[in-house]
Amino acid sequence: MRRYVLALLPLCLVGVVHAAEPSAAARKLAQDALIVDTHIDAPENLIGDWNDLTVLTPKREFDYPRAKEGGLDAPWMSIFTSAEEDKDGKAWTIANLQIDAVRSLAARAPEKFALLLSPKDVEKNVGKVMLPMGMENGAPIGDDLGKVQFFFDRGIRYITLCHGEDNRIADSSYVETHTWGGLSPFGEKVVAEMNRLGIIVDVSHVSDDAVRDVLRLTDVPVIASHSGLRHFTPTWNRNLPDDLAVAIAKEGGVIQLSFGTVFLSDKQSREWSDKRAQMAAMKKAGKSSGEIDAFEKQFTKAHPAPVLHVDSVLDQVDYGVKLVGVDHIGIGSDFDGVSGELPVDLKSVKDYPVLVEGLMQRGYSEADIRKILGGNLLRVWGEIEAKAGKK
Ligand SMILES: [Zn+2]
Repeated sequence: MRRYVLALLPLCLVGVVHAAEPSAAARKLAQDALIVDTHIDAPENLIGDWNDLTVLTPKREFDYPRAKEGGLDAPWMSIFTSAEEDKDGKAWTIANLQIDAVRSLAARAPEKFALLLSPKDVEKNVGKVMLPMGMENGAPIGDDLGKVQFFFDRGIRYITLCHGEDNRIADSSYVETHTWGGLSPFGEKVVAEMNRLGIIVDVSHVSDDAVRDVLRLTDVPVIASHSGLRHFTPTWNRNLPDDLAVAIAKEGGVIQLSFGTVFLSDKQSREWSDKRAQMAAMKKAGKSSGEIDAFEKQFTKAHPAPVLHVDSVLDQVDYGVKLVGVDHIGIGSDFDGVSGELPVDLKSVKDYPVLVEGLMQRGYSEADIRKILGGNLLRVWGEIEAKAGKK
C-alpha cells in the first residue's frame, strides 16, 4: 500500500507545481468578460440530491459564490434525460421537474440569479448569474412536434437532439446501431421547428451522419454545446472530426469545448468505449442492473482518469482555432456532468481565470479571449433568434 502512496506522490506534486495560479490581469479579464458556458449539469443533480446552490456547495461544481468568483455570467443549465429514462417513459416528467428546479432557483434568489431567455437580455442582467436552459436529449418531445413549442415556452433555448442511444429524432455517437442513418424523418421536422422558434440546434452527442443531416437542413448556425475535437481522441466518436468542425464553422456555428478528461485523453476515451462495450454485452447476456453497476464501479476504479491540466484544454483551443478560426470556438465545460473527472486546475466554476491565464500565456489577444469565453456563442444565439419566425 505504501508503495502506491510513494508512487502517487510525485504526481500530486507535479499537479501542485503545474496548476497555474491566475494573474491579477487574468482574474480581472474573467470578471470583465461575459463568460457563457453552454453545459453545466446542475439541474439533474438538483433533482437527485437537492442542494441550495445560492450558497457555497463544495461537493458540487457549480454554485453562486464560486460562479461569481470565477467571473461566470451565463451558465447554461442542462435539462438532461437519459435514454433509459426515455425508454421507461419518464423523460417528459423529469425534464419538466428539472425546468421547475431551475426556475425555482432563480425565483428564490432574484438578487443573485436571472433566467435568461434571450441574448438581448444579457446587458440588463449583468452582475447576476444568468441561467439560460438547454435540453440535453430531445426525448421529452416524444413524437409530438407541438412539444417543441411547449419547451420553448418553458424557456428551453437549445436542444441536444439525442444522448446515449438513438432516439426518435437522431442517431447517437455512442452506439453503432445507425437506426436512421442520421436524422429521422421526425427529426427533420424537429430541426425545422427549432429553426422557426429560434431554439439552437445542438449537435453534441449525435452521430456524424446526424450532424451532416442537420447542416444540410438548417438555415441558421448550429452549436456543439459540449464536445471536444476527435483529432485528440481518434477512436471516440463523441468528439467532432475535423471535417465536421469545419462544416459547423462554415455555417457560422460554434464548437463549445469541454473540460472533462474523457474529451481530452485518447487513453481515457478508449477505456470509456471499452467499458461501455462490456456493459452492453452484459446487458445483452441478461445480467442484472446490479451486476452491471458493480462492473462499472470496478472498471472505473481499475482505470482512474488521467491527471491532466488546463494545458490539455488549451491544446484543443489552439488546434480548434487553427482549424476553424477564433470566431467559432467557445466553452461548454460539462461541470457537474463528468463525475469530477476534470483537469486538476479546472475543477469548478471558480476556475475560469485559470483558463484565461492560459489563453493569455499562449498569446491570445483580449478581444479573442472575449470571443472564446462567450462572445461567439452570444453572436450565434442572436443570429438564430433574429431569424426565428421568418419562415
Ligand atoms: Zn453530455
